[in-house]
Amino acid sequence: MAGASVKVAVRVRPFNSREMSRDSKCIIQMSGSTTTIINPKQPKETPKSFSFDYSYWSHTSPEDIKYASQKQVYRDIGEEMLQHAFEGYNVCIFAYGQTGAGKSYTMMGKQEKDQQGIIPQLCEDLFSRINDTTNDNMSYSVEVSYMEIYCERVRDLLNPKNKGNLRVREHPLMGPYVEDLSKLAVTSYNDIQDLMDSGNKARCTPGALSPGSFPVGSCPVGPSGQEAVRPGSARSAGGVGRGLGEGANINKSLTTLGKVISALAEMNKKKKKTDFIPYRDSVLTWLLRENLGGNSRTAMVAALSPADINYDETLSTLRWPAEAR
Ligand code: ADP
Repeated sequence: MAGASVKVAVRVRPFNSREMSRDSKCIIQMSGSTTTIINPKQPKETPKSFSFDYSYWSHTSPEDIKYASQKQVYRDIGEEMLQHAFEGYNVCIFAYGQTGAGKSYTMMGKQEKDQQGIIPQLCEDLFSRINDTTNDNMSYSVEVSYMEIYCERVRDLLNPKNKGNLRVREHPLMGPYVEDLSKLAVTSYNDIQDLMDSGNKARCTPGALSPGSFPVGSCPVGPSGQEAVRPGSARSAGGVGRGLGEGANINKSLTTLGKVISALAEMNKKKKKTDFIPYRDSVLTWLLRENLGGNSRTAMVAALSPADINYDETLSTLRWPAEAR
């Protein structure tokens, strides 16, 4: 299923002021849907190129013809996913990448004109489509849940009094779900925004809506030690924190998400339906089972820093979605 059903985009952000003041070099190039990264430590090394569904440039001024606006990203990714949702697919959109690489900007964006990210634009379209098509034969209900998976524990951000670890169960028809998770009815994007604002206050982890973004050193070590975030590691959702080296197990859910997506891609290549997909190895992948496999459409946006100092993390961010294709 992956391949046809997983859309992969990468997006590079502009330099931030710190990078500008340090005279950072841009190590990312984009041409069409291909992204190329140059190793600043080995300038003679052949640059590595990766091909995606979309490569979004925003490293130069918004007047640059290559500059990908929030509207364009929404049109390519959000509109298509919304259409699939109306067709009856389980739809999943996620952003991932190093802290500060642009996940929140892509998913939420800013309040200013033309700065809204995928979520607000998609919700506006969702409700206007509902208003346009509601009639005697057709009615809709929209419900919102907002949870945080932190160190393999699930917390309900819309009911923070429920501090415990919510149980993940499996419904015989609907698949995995979180028991007792709040589901609140909404009728507009404003309702959703209010819920997200209150949910954000209850989070353990600051920042973006993303499959990972973990504070330094605060994850308790499980019996196997697998879930530890090593003190001093960069806060990273990209799978490999700077200074840790390849393979360090920063977060089980994110590592497993990578494995699941490559296993699905592999299965798709072989056109076999029977391969083992390790959904059960983490809470995130178990809960997303029906969104990643089966009757589903998924889009992921890998957020990249353009700066030479982030080479290692940016390379691992690029490698991860490249495997999903
Ligand atoms: P993350 O959520 O990955 O930690 P943010 O989305 O907060 O990162 O981005 C870090 C900073 O870079 C923010 O100030 C954000 O507004 C800016 N930024 C990120 N991506 C872009 C972009 N494509 N265009 C302009 N500014 C961006």
